Amino acid sequence: LTQLWAPLHFLGFIYREIKHSLADMERMFTLLNVGAEVADRPQAQALASRNVHIGFEAVNFGYDAKRQILHEVSFEIPAGHTVAVVGASGAGKSTLSRLLFRFYDVSGGSIRFNGVDGRELTQDSLRAHIGIVPQDTVLFNDSIYYNIAYGRPDASRDEVIEAAKSAHIHDFVMSLPDGYDTMVGERGLKLSGGEKQRVAIARTILKNPPVLVFDEATSALDSQTEKAIQAELMSIAANRTTLIIAHRLSTIADADCILVMEQGRIVERGSHRELLASEGRYAQMWRLQQEGEPEPA
Ligand code: ADP
Ligand code: MG
Repeated sequence: LTQLWAPLHFLGFIYREIKHSLADMERMFTLLNVGAEVADRPQAQALASRNVHIGFEAVNFGYDAKRQILHEVSFEIPAGHTVAVVGASGAGKSTLSRLLFRFYDVSGGSIRFNGVDGRELTQDSLRAHIGIVPQDTVLFNDSIYYNIAYGRPDASRDEVIEAAKSAHIHDFVMSLPDGYDTMVGERGLKLSGGEKQRVAIARTILKNPPVLVFDEATSALDSQTEKAIQAELMSIAANRTTLIIAHRLSTIADADCILVMEQGRIVERGSHRELLASEGRYAQMWRLQQEGEPEPA
């Protein structure tokens, strides 16, 4: 029995380690086809349209039954619109992105894609529609080229380089002795947090999905690079259904709707202007950030 248990235990370990990285989860599921917490229903249908309206309807969720994390979370992202989520660390923001990608199933309520419950859709078709730039990107032990091209493995070399340029990582890559063939990850070149984020952004640009999720996607970048990439991200997000989890409020002031989360609940919602006018938590956070990080005039 121990002979059987050891490899299983090892797999469990890998699974937990890998779980932190959305990209690795995707790859592991395709490679091993095990470990998924969710399974396709026998009659699951494919999400086909590239115009995707997303609706969270009274979503309840906990990672385990003992502790509920999300409480009755409801909001809509009409096709082509941008919704931003702000709130303190631990409020449940990243959990929203994990549920959207269906790493977990909701415990109550539903997440609907063009009106269809996500649980009635095939995971492949759902995930093909969504590009996530996660909070912490874990790269594969492979070349930079592979790590970017993973977003769309049949992309041409020119397309990969184009995506790298858009993500402002091309010049850095060209400065390396082996260029795009440089091996990265645990057993290769260690990239900084900001470089990894830009690789993840390039991967997502290449994937060209109709639904985008940016989870503090530029948090590890210096403010200069963040500004440059921000403009790029905004132009990519235009006309796509986008969920932005932001830590710097200045980056989401243009969002169609901003949700303020606190302890798993949406406590305020509205446009930047509306939220400032209502003088609530968002207005308070905005003032604090203006004092903390003065923007150049
Ligand atoms: P945020 O992104 O707003 O900082 P998260 O959505 O990551 O917050 O986390 C919300 C809550 O869920 C936190 O209390 C966190 O500790 C908990 N949590 C996050 N991931 C897991 C997990 N895999 N298992 C158990 N609890 C988790
Ligand atoms: Mg988070």
